Amino acid sequence: MTALEASEGTCALPLGVIEKHGPSGPIGTDLINIRYITALAAAEEYTVIFPEYYVGQITEAIHQPGTIAYSPRLQLDMLQETVSEMARNGCCKVILVNGHGGNNNLVQYLVQTQLASPRDYIVYAIMGGYGADLPEAARASGPGVDGHAGEGEISNVMASRPGLAHPERAATESGADQARLDLPDGVYTAIWWYASFPNHYGGNAAGATAARGEAATRAMARRLAEDIRAIKQDEVGPRLQRGFFDRMVRLNTPREPT
Ligand SMILES: [Zn+2]
Repeated sequence: MTALEASEGTCALPLGVIEKHGPSGPIGTDLINIRYITALAAAEEYTVIFPEYYVGQITEAIHQPGTIAYSPRLQLDMLQETVSEMARNGCCKVILVNGHGGNNNLVQYLVQTQLASPRDYIVYAIMGGYGADLPEAARASGPGVDGHAGEGEISNVMASRPGLAHPERAATESGADQARLDLPDGVYTAIWWYASFPNHYGGNAAGATAARGEAATRAMARRLAEDIRAIKQDEVGPRLQRGFFDRMVRLNTPREPT
């Protein structure tokens, strides 16, 4: 049996980015963590995992060393072409597994635009957010310690790549929310992140532990495995998408003169 047969046509693309992760984490933190979680999930519910993908959105951290920020158009083109090539190689269900919060809008926009023209594959996005029902051992040691490069993320690095995490350096910078912007809810502006976290560090990684990271990554992998299973079983999405494209093509095809 080929890998694609075993994965029932599903292929996962874990997405991260290259960015500073406070004083405690490696610049590939998000990618390292999400690939680790995806590999754990695939051991439970098999899927094909594509190689390291880091062409993400990270404009908010270009004032910090270690940031690799590609231009907006290239981000979209690279992601679409990667997805299209995955499909051309036989992945009929492409699963984008996003591990970096700054990619959220990019990933969802890319998925939305899959309806722009007919295609014989379907793209799903896993946006994370499994935090709500994590087990006790995976929870934060206190309020305010989680965030970008905070206790949770660095704990996950301690589970996935122990030698790369340095919680002992956590106090060398402040990860406190500086809340410098005073705007009503619902008003969005790009400088919001810098206004809150100018060190590109949110929370406090001092209390990070491998035990918390192991509990969290395992719990997240279990949830991701359930999502992969549900995507394999999803027949409605592909069927509706085919019908949608069929109606679209018929609308766009000029009628033969009678
Ligand atoms: Zn990130």
